[in-house]
Amino acid sequence: MTADDGVSVHETYPSRVLTGPGARHRVPEEAERLGARRVLLISTNSAKTAADDLAARLAGRLAGRFGRPAAHTPVAVTDEAMRTVRDTRADAVVALGGGSAVGLAKALAARTGLPQLAVPTTYAGSEVTPVLGETENGVKTTRRDRSLVPGTVVYDPELTLTMPPGLTRTSALNALAHAVEALWAPDATAVSDALATEAAAGILDALPAVLARPAGLAGRTRLQEAAWLAGLCLAGTSMGLHHRLAHALGGTFGLPHAELHALLLPHVMAFTLPSAPKADARLRRVTGGADPAAVTARIARAHDGPTTLAALGVPRERLRDVAERVAARPHPAPRPVEADAVARLLEGAWLGS
Ligand code: NAD
Repeated sequence: MTADDGVSVHETYPSRVLTGPGARHRVPEEAERLGARRVLLISTNSAKTAADDLAARLAGRLAGRFGRPAAHTPVAVTDEAMRTVRDTRADAVVALGGGSAVGLAKALAARTGLPQLAVPTTYAGSEVTPVLGETENGVKTTRRDRSLVPGTVVYDPELTLTMPPGLTRTSALNALAHAVEALWAPDATAVSDALATEAAAGILDALPAVLARPAGLAGRTRLQEAAWLAGLCLAGTSMGLHHRLAHALGGTFGLPHAELHALLLPHVMAFTLPSAPKADARLRRVTGGADPAAVTARIARAHDGPTTLAALGVPRERLRDVAERVAARPHPAPRPVEADAVARLLEGAWLGS
C-alpha cells in the first residue's frame, strides 16, 4: 500500500510453480517433495479423466477423493469435505479444477494447516493468491492470509484444452480484470505494473488465437501463462471497483463468476480509464493505441452466453441498492465511486449499452 509519505510495499508469497505441457504428471513427485503420504484429491467432473489418471499415478499415496467442490466455496460443502479429511487422515490436499476446486482446498487448509498443491484448469488465478471467499446463508465473506497460498502450483496447458469457448473467453476476461485493476490500484508498484502489462498483452494477444483454434497448445500455453501473471496481480494489489461490484452482485444474486466478470469489465474500464492515465497508457501500448474498453467490449460481447446483467437474471430495480452498498464502502480509486455514477454504470451493464 502506498502511504501518505509516498512509500509503497510490495509483498510476494512463496510458492513453487511448474509450467508446461505434461506438468501434471509431476504431481506425485511434488507430493513426495512435500512429504505427503496420504493425499486427498479434490476435482470436479470436468477434470474427471485427468483426475482418474492422477489418482492412478498417486497410487499408494492417494488416501481419498472428493468430487463435489462448488462455486463460492459454500461452508456446508467444506464441512462435508472436512469429514473426508478426517476419515482418510489426509496429510495434504491436491486440487485439480477451476477456482471452485482450488477454493475448497484453501478452505480445508485454513481449517487444518494441511499443505496444498493446486493444478488449475481455468484462468481464475486463485491458486497464487492469499484470498479465500466463502459463502454461508447467502453471505460471502473473504479472508486474506499468506498461509492460504498453495505451496505448489502446477500449470499444465493440456488441462485447459477441454475448456469450451464460452468458459475460455469469460475466464480469460476474468484474468484480464485482475491485470486491469492492478494497473490503477492505489498500491501498484513497478513489479505489479510490469506483471499487469505483460498479463494484459498475453491475454489480448492469445485469446483471439485460442478462440479461433481452441486445440492449439501454443496459444493455450501463452494464455495460461498470462493468467498466472494476472493471478499474481490479484495477489499483490488491492482490487477496486470492478472486483467490488463483482463481489456484491455475485454474492447477492449467486451469479456465475467468470461470466459476471466478463460482462462487467468493459463497463468498469470505460468508467475508470479516463481518470487513470497511467493504466490507460499502458493498456493502449498493448492495444496498439485502440481504446482498451472498446477492445475488451468487443471480446466480451461475442460471448455465446449471457452478456448483460439482465440476461443473468439480475432484477433491474435492485441495481441502485448494489450501487449504494458499493459506494458506502469507499476505497481509493482513480475516479470517485459515487452511488449515482455507479448506478448508471450498472444500468449500462444491465442493458448491454
Ligand atoms: P469454476 O471452478 O466454478 O468452474 C466453472 C465451470 O467450469 C465448472 O462447471 C467446472 O467444472 C468447469 N471447468 C473448469 N475447468 C474446466 C476445463 N478445463 N474444461 C472444461 N470445464 C472446466 O470456475 P472458475 O471461474 O475457475 O472459479 C470461480 C471460483 O473461484 C469462484 O468461487 C471464485 O470466487 C473463486 N475465485 C477465487 C479467487 C481467489 O483469489 N480467492 C480468484 C478467482 C476466483
